[in-house]
Amino acid sequence: MALLEQIASDETGRRRYDVKSPVSLESIGQFEAASDAEVRAAVDRARKAQREWATKSFDERAVILWRLVDQIVERQDEIVDLVIKETGKTLNEAIAMEVMAPCMQISHYAKRAKKYLATQHKRAAGIMRFSKKVTLHYQPLGVVALITPWNGPVALAANPLAQATMAGNAVVHKPSEVTPFSAVLLQEMAEAAGFPTDLYQVIQGDGQTGAALIEAGVDKVSFTGSVATGRKVGEACGRNLIPVTLELGGKDAMIVCQDADLDRAADGAVRGSFFNTGHYCCGTERVYVPESIYEPFVAKVVAQVETLKQAEKGASDVGAVFWDKQMDIIEEHMSDAKKKGARVLVGGERDRSLSGYFFPPTVVVDVDHSMDLMSRETFGPIVAIQKVRDEEEAIELANDSDYGLSGNVWTKDLAKGAKIGERMVTGSVSVNDISVTYGIPEAPFGGVKESGVGQVNGELGIRGYCHLHPVIIDTTKRAQGGYPYTEESAAGLRKIIKTVFGNKILRRLFV
Ligand code: NAD
Repeated sequence: MALLEQIASDETGRRRYDVKSPVSLESIGQFEAASDAEVRAAVDRARKAQREWATKSFDERAVILWRLVDQIVERQDEIVDLVIKETGKTLNEAIAMEVMAPCMQISHYAKRAKKYLATQHKRAAGIMRFSKKVTLHYQPLGVVALITPWNGPVALAANPLAQATMAGNAVVHKPSEVTPFSAVLLQEMAEAAGFPTDLYQVIQGDGQTGAALIEAGVDKVSFTGSVATGRKVGEACGRNLIPVTLELGGKDAMIVCQDADLDRAADGAVRGSFFNTGHYCCGTERVYVPESIYEPFVAKVVAQVETLKQAEKGASDVGAVFWDKQMDIIEEHMSDAKKKGARVLVGGERDRSLSGYFFPPTVVVDVDHSMDLMSRETFGPIVAIQKVRDEEEAIELANDSDYGLSGNVWTKDLAKGAKIGERMVTGSVSVNDISVTYGIPEAPFGGVKESGVGQVNGELGIRGYCHLHPVIIDTTKRAQGGYPYTEESAAGLRKIIKTVFGNKILRRLFV
């Protein structure tokens, strides 16, 4: 059964969808995709709202963002219920990811945007130092198109929303068609917090609607989603000459060193692979373990996974697969791996005793890179463990991937962990932890290779919602002159070049 079903499309091309919960398979609501004209109208309204918003001080903007935090705290039960209905994630994960993380993210920028975006005054260097003062202003870009996926419907919207609006922009948000309703709730909370009308608008729709938004005259696109869509979004932004950040998929590797604390590493493999039902862009998808510690490590992982609970109601450790398309990918990857010789130690097949979309926490060994399970993004609750000769082979295999989002290394020798981390061709890396980069604004987040373009979060990320506008002031109080050009003035220039740049000491002093 399809969890997202197109139920009608009128002559104007307006598409209507019914959304079902992956847990109960019951309808949780319907929405209509906005038409191209409605998308353009939303962007026009956002532009008007942005002009007024840009005149507000950081303190004035922050007051409203702090109130949004209040709203999230007050309405957390509503958020959690809705997100669980939409995604089937566990209660603990819904609280941690969709309530706590947004509170942390919004608070961070409400408190620090003023510092991150403070006007900078600089003295020009070199010869210019005698005549020019430089002031750098962080100007908002205008209207930001926010296009988000289904795996963190509140968190992955609230974070860019806070950064874009604190920087003085308006936001038009196209949430995933699989999780459309939590964005409506976020918009309601923003309005209740005092966001000016039209500053944050949610337009519902599918991929076509997202594509229309990029063509609707926006000034920046903040995109989070799959590599395939990211490529299309990047192309459209290139054609429209608008800046874009692409936060895309991953295939994160975990390297367990011979000296690792095996209990801790096994726990890390389980958490890293199962967090958010494995629907975590920085989830651990490949585990490399040297043969000397392979057997005890696998035994510890298996023992822990066998204790995990999966249930439609009540306490559960691993939630539902968020929608049928993802279940198809997980099942295809598992079947391909089994055909090529992988051995399943726990789980391995969709649990049909539960009525919803549940894939049990799974442990697979004897895997290799010929399998989709080890080369394409699976995004499911699977610990896939490959035995390697030693740490060198683990590093080589970790880097043998089209993706490069994040990764993790486990060792008692922290200096060695950092060194191995530096050799991993990824956007970031953790030592003795699952990937936590997205939750630490001081660490810029973003992928290399197919995992993305650009970095987000923190000082660097919020500055990405601005144009750094230099104002250069001449302090000399006299005309520059220079005309008419003569042979003497050309000779004078040559003399300066020879005197300053032909002299090894002077050229260092003057630049
Ligand atoms: P997706 O690419 O299918 O969809 C993402 C969004 O793009 C949706 O809102 C969708 O409607 C929209 N869209 C689809 N086609 C479009 C087009 N042509 N133009 C504009 N918008 C379009 O991704 P998904 O399946 O919703 O999300 C899962 C993916 O997101 C995984 O690959 C995951 O790794 C990735 N992800 C990455 C990060 C990160 O920070 N790197 C975070 C979360 C998820």
